Amino acid sequence: MTDGFQAPKGTYDLLPPDSRLALAVRTAMIDAARSGGYEYIETPVFEDTDLFARGVGESTDVVTKEMYTFDDRGGRSITLRPEGTAAVVRAVIEHGLARGQLPVKLYYSAPFFRYERPQAGRYRHFWQIGAEALGTEDPAVDAELIVLAADAYRALGLTKVRLLLNSLGCRECRPAYRAALQDYLRGVDLDPATRQRVEANPLRVLDDRRPEIQALLADAPLVTDHLCAACKAFHEEVRRLLTDSGVEFVDEPRLVRGLDYYTRTLFEFVHTGLGAQSAIGGGGRYDGLSEMIGGPPLPGVGWALGVDRTVLAMRAEKIAPPPAARVDVFAVPLGEDARRTAFLLVTELRRAGVGADLGYGQRGLKGAMRAADRSGARYALILGERDLADGVAQLKDLTTGDQEPVALAGLVGTVKEKLQ
Ligand code: AMP
Repeated sequence: MTDGFQAPKGTYDLLPPDSRLALAVRTAMIDAARSGGYEYIETPVFEDTDLFARGVGESTDVVTKEMYTFDDRGGRSITLRPEGTAAVVRAVIEHGLARGQLPVKLYYSAPFFRYERPQAGRYRHFWQIGAEALGTEDPAVDAELIVLAADAYRALGLTKVRLLLNSLGCRECRPAYRAALQDYLRGVDLDPATRQRVEANPLRVLDDRRPEIQALLADAPLVTDHLCAACKAFHEEVRRLLTDSGVEFVDEPRLVRGLDYYTRTLFEFVHTGLGAQSAIGGGGRYDGLSEMIGGPPLPGVGWALGVDRTVLAMRAEKIAPPPAARVDVFAVPLGEDARRTAFLLVTELRRAGVGADLGYGQRGLKGAMRAADRSGARYALILGERDLADGVAQLKDLTTGDQEPVALAGLVGTVKEKLQ
């Protein structure tokens, strides 16, 4: 720690070797999306505040308590994005992407911002990989996304991941369920704040983690008992495709998640080795979202996988980070002239696709060789004054200790051959 600046509250610096783990997580998730034909999309880090207010839901915690909202110098209300889906749908509508072949499949890899109370696994700046499929109401798309995410976790070596699955119904059957739940909740003894939530957004009460509330919910009506025939058939098909794909899941009829836009399929991946913040990813179907933000009817389904928590899950399962990137050749120049020649050789090697580094600073042979060893390079390329005069460099195999002179002319080709 210094007396000076520190990373802001709720944020952290991602340093090696954990940064390697984080990159591996992102790569596995991106690979999964790409393997399903999803294409990369990038939207701005900030959007009009209204997009999230309308798209995420006015009464959600994200919107009421957690947004980084400010007026810019032009007097516009701007919000740092707290989630990705509303912005992706906004971009798809704005650019008419859904006029072509459907579904439009997109993925993103980006930082998000929520003013949450920081704790282990909960940050104000965090990273998500997201995937969205827009324009199709086919349950196979829901299943595809879930399978891709489950396979990404498995590819990372994670074994303690549980998939929770639910259906929230649609605009036909959800209102009746909402009313039934509201009826039930009005009859139990709740604190004023929760009573208010019963009126504004009763489904969110199911999400309340307090044990006393959970106890009161024991006999609450379940959404899965209120699904219309179409929603039931849709949900059954998703469940069946998951089973056929060998993806295990647990039916969780109380799963609601914090954003308002979900319809039908809803899912969450939790890791059993993490504490309170056990959700490592989640998503669902959001058939009404486009209309909520002023677009045409455009069904969609997607997920967002949390990179930070997946890194924590990997640490909890003691999965080692991948090895650091290594160079193949480490040049050790001895003397001023040798230094310039070594610099050029290293540059040539890199341009030819060979990873190379150089002993910088005025170090003696011993110090420079230690640096070469630490670099993990296969070869040290030692350049003394006498070698230079002879037009050679000494190529030392750092695994066997063998050393031989190699002509400077054609050195790149020689080294490349040896590395093969
Ligand atoms: P959500 O957008 O809330 O559905 O979140 C999707 C995933 O992002 C969660 O399962 C978490 O893994 C991750 N996530 C959400 N909020 C945070 C946060 N404040 N800090 C770290 N990860 C988060």
